[in-house]
Amino acid sequence: MFYFGTNLKMNQTPAEASVFVAQLSQYQTASGAPATQLWVIPSYTNLTTVADTCAHAGIWLGAQNMHWEDDGAYTGEISAVQLKACGANLVMLGHAERRTLFGETDENVNRKVLAAARHQLRILLCVGETAAEKQRDTGQAYVTRQLEIALAGLADPREVLVLYEPVWSIGTAGVPADLADVAEAFANIRRTLHQQFGAAGDGVPILYGGSVNAQNCGAYAHLPECAGLGVGRAAWQAESFINVLQHALRV
Ligand code: PEP
Repeated sequence: MFYFGTNLKMNQTPAEASVFVAQLSQYQTASGAPATQLWVIPSYTNLTTVADTCAHAGIWLGAQNMHWEDDGAYTGEISAVQLKACGANLVMLGHAERRTLFGETDENVNRKVLAAARHQLRILLCVGETAAEKQRDTGQAYVTRQLEIALAGLADPREVLVLYEPVWSIGTAGVPADLADVAEAFANIRRTLHQQFGAAGDGVPILYGGSVNAQNCGAYAHLPECAGLGVGRAAWQAESFINVLQHALRV
């Protein structure tokens, strides 16, 4: 299975999300690519609007974050119960922007992972080193630690996908990572998952994200451990989403 999708961040109104997802759904239904699992992660405000279309097309619908409690006095937060009621079947946790801009800690990512698992939400766990760690050559150890803390206490990793996104590779100021570095990071992630979960860890899909576009996607997609791609800016229009996907599958 090849997992391909986009995090829309703070973009799109419900009307725009509806058109976007309808176009992806038409493509997915017409292409009949059973070996490709698409996922879309819009703003919370757009989940309900696109839920039916995603469900009919078999596109996973994700949220960009969540709180670990089911309900309560947590102003501005949203729970797994609420996300599921809006049609989400996936949640992205620990995205670099949550960590760097909003103070997300590994310990809180862990609370969220355990809550998502309790509610049978698939988990797209984002990990990745900062530029400073990369320069100090401590990036691998940093990612290992992120994984060990985020997944601590999880009985079964079957619903987890790991999205490796080096912080320095994301967004308009980002630089796409070297293939050799991604391959090394994937090997480290696989080793860590195996140490944590044994054989079950070997089945966890590992995806790459960070300035992926139509030109570079094929090379990442064909790295031995690469089970998919997370694309930001280059996939926020349905045409470009499909274009990058087709390049990733073709090369
Ligand atoms: C992201 O933020 O997760 C991401 C992959 O963004 P971009 O592709 O725009 O670098």
